[in-house]
Amino acid sequence: MTLEGQGLVCSYGPTRALDGVDIVAGDGEIVAVVGPNGAGKTTLLRALSGERRPDQGEVSLDGSPVSGADPGWRGRVGLVSHRTGLYRKLSVAENLNFFASLHAVPNPRNAVAQALETIGAATLAGTRVEALSRGQCQRVALARTLLHDPDILFLDEPFTGLDPAAAAALETALRARRTAGSVIVLVTHDLRRCLDLADRVVVLQRGHKVHDGETDSADPVDLLRYFTTTAADPS
Ligand code: ATP
Repeated sequence: MTLEGQGLVCSYGPTRALDGVDIVAGDGEIVAVVGPNGAGKTTLLRALSGERRPDQGEVSLDGSPVSGADPGWRGRVGLVSHRTGLYRKLSVAENLNFFASLHAVPNPRNAVAQALETIGAATLAGTRVEALSRGQCQRVALARTLLHDPDILFLDEPFTGLDPAAAAALETALRARRTAGSVIVLVTHDLRRCLDLADRVVVLQRGHKVHDGETDSADPVDLLRYFTTTAADPS
């Protein structure tokens, strides 16, 4: 399985958030996307996942174009973004049961319990979302994303707010999914974790890809430089 974004351009009014980005992610691979604030990372995940149609360029899976409007594609994709999409007045279990029904998850009761267990959130099942702490809410958002067992995962700063135990549980879950052959694209500001967890690292600056390489051969000092210089201002 190969996910590919080719020549992706996305603008918000006069701002070119992505300016012709190519990216490839294969199965059994975690690709980390890093870069300074405003570099276009979230926009890239939105375009790849189908949440936002690129103004130019194409997203394809094994050579066939994909679209966020395609239910088959949506059923395979899990997206964790800044917006949790959870209903504040409903309990955690009510939320997850609702999303399980949207995705026609077989055996939803088990799937909900399993997703909560994976991220250490089983005790939160009866809690209303509005009463969750930030980290608890992030755990539930992750459980929601894993619920329908997607094999293509887009994770926008998924470790934000997680305590060390939940972060470790998420790392374990991601490594297991990589082993099972999922495609995983991860946006993070944590370079240490990126180098430890990901197979490849892509660096964006001002909507351009300025680095794409294996993490094994990545030099942390070189990566850090991308945060203090810009594409138009190389050192
Ligand atoms: P961060 O690390 O701060 O989360 P990012 O790399 O994820 O940043 P994006 O959120 O993709 O960056 O934003 C890329 C550019 O697009 C920025 O200049 C941002 O101001 C702009 N942008 C993003 N969303 C919108 C929007 N809804 N309306 C207008 N401009 C936007």
